[in-house]
Amino acid sequence: MERMTTSDHGANHGIVNPVYGLPAAATSMHGPAALPANMFDTVPGYEGTVAGGGGGYLQPPMPSVPMPVPAQTPSPPVWHIPSISEDRARAAFATYVSSKCCYSSAPVREGVITNMESFNTYRYRLETFMESRSTEWSQEPYTGQPVDAGVQPAPGPWQITAQSPAFFQEHKQTIKVPYTSSVKNCHLCLGMGRNPCTTCAGAGNKVCRLCNGSGYRNSNDSCTHCNGRGRENCTSCSSRGSCQCDTCRGKGKLLVFINLNVKWSIEKDDFVAQDSSGLKVDKLEEVSGKELFKDAQYMVYPVRGFPDVSVAQASERLIREHQGKYAQTSRILQQRQTIELIPITKVNYRWKGKPNFYYVFGNEFKVNVDDYPATCCCSVM
Ligand SMILES: [Zn+2]
Ligand SMILES: [Zn+2]
Ligand SMILES: [Zn+2]
Repeated sequence: MERMTTSDHGANHGIVNPVYGLPAAATSMHGPAALPANMFDTVPGYEGTVAGGGGGYLQPPMPSVPMPVPAQTPSPPVWHIPSISEDRARAAFATYVSSKCCYSSAPVREGVITNMESFNTYRYRLETFMESRSTEWSQEPYTGQPVDAGVQPAPGPWQITAQSPAFFQEHKQTIKVPYTSSVKNCHLCLGMGRNPCTTCAGAGNKVCRLCNGSGYRNSNDSCTHCNGRGRENCTSCSSRGSCQCDTCRGKGKLLVFINLNVKWSIEKDDFVAQDSSGLKVDKLEEVSGKELFKDAQYMVYPVRGFPDVSVAQASERLIREHQGKYAQTSRILQQRQTIELIPITKVNYRWKGKPNFYYVFGNEFKVNVDDYPATCCCSVM
C-alpha cells in the first residue's frame, strides 16, 4: 500500500504523518442484544470496556516522532478584490426578486443604482481529520469460529491496524480484537437454543380467535375453525411451544469478544473576519469565496503575515483549540486550513424617491434584502 506521505495534499513543508497508511485487519459485525457483565473475561488493556459501547474514546499514545516546528510560512499569494458591475448586480437582484412570489419587480425595473460599495470579508477555515477508537464487548452466535482468548495477550487498542480511508473521507470500521474471543452459554436461552413462544406462552396453542374460546359460533353452530375445541394451533411456533433463540440463532452458545470501533471524522471551524457591510455573518455560510490560501498537512502551522491580523489570530487560536480538544481522544491524521475572500457588494438604489439597498455576495452572487420596498402585502404600488 502506497499511501504514506502528505505530499499530494498541498504544501509539503510539514513532516510525514507517522501513523498513517497501515495494512487492514478483518472486520466483523456485533450482535443485537447487550451482554450481562458476568460474561466478560478480564482482558489486560481493555478493563474499561462495556457492552453497547459507552466507554468513551481511548486516548492514543503520543506520536513516536517529535512535534513539528514551524517552518517558514509561505507569503500569501497576490490577491485582488473582485468587484461586480451594475449590470451584474441588477441581474442578481432581478433573479432574486422573481423567485419571491409577493415581490413586485417595479423596484428592479425602475430603481436607480446610486452607489455600490465593495466589502472584503475573509473566511478562515480549519478542518482536522482524525481517527478515534473505542471498544465494546460484543457477541455473535457460535458456529465454530476460532476461540483465542488468552492464547496470547491482546494487542492494545491503538496497536491494531485499521484501513484508513483517504484524507478527509469520513468512515467507520469495526474490528474484532484478536485474542479476546471465548465461547459462553447463551444468557437468553440458558444454552437451550430455544425460548418459550411469547405468542402462546409455551402452550403450542391459543384461544381460537373466531369463537373466542367457546367452541361455538352463531349460537349453536360448532366453530369450524377449531372444530369446537375452542383453541387453535399457534402459528408463531408451529405448535412447538418454543421458538429459536434470536441471540444465538439456536446454537445455544455465543462467541463473546471485544470489538474495536474505529471512526474517521472531520472537525471544522470557521472564522469570519469582522466586516462593516452590515450583512449578517451567518448568511455567508451559504456561499463560497475566492480561495486565497490553502494548506494541508499532518499538522498545520498558524498562518502568519496575512494582511488581516484577526485572521492570523483566529488561525493560531483554532489550531491550538483543535489540538487541545482532539489530541486527547483522537489521533490527528491531517489538517487543512483555507482563507477565502468573500466578496460583498452593498448596492444602494433609489426607488420612488426613497433610498434602499441590497447585498450581492459570494461567488454565487447571492442576494440579501432586509426590507424590500414593494411586497404585495404592505406596499403602495
Ligand atoms: Zn374456534
Ligand atoms: Zn406458540
Ligand atoms: Zn440463545
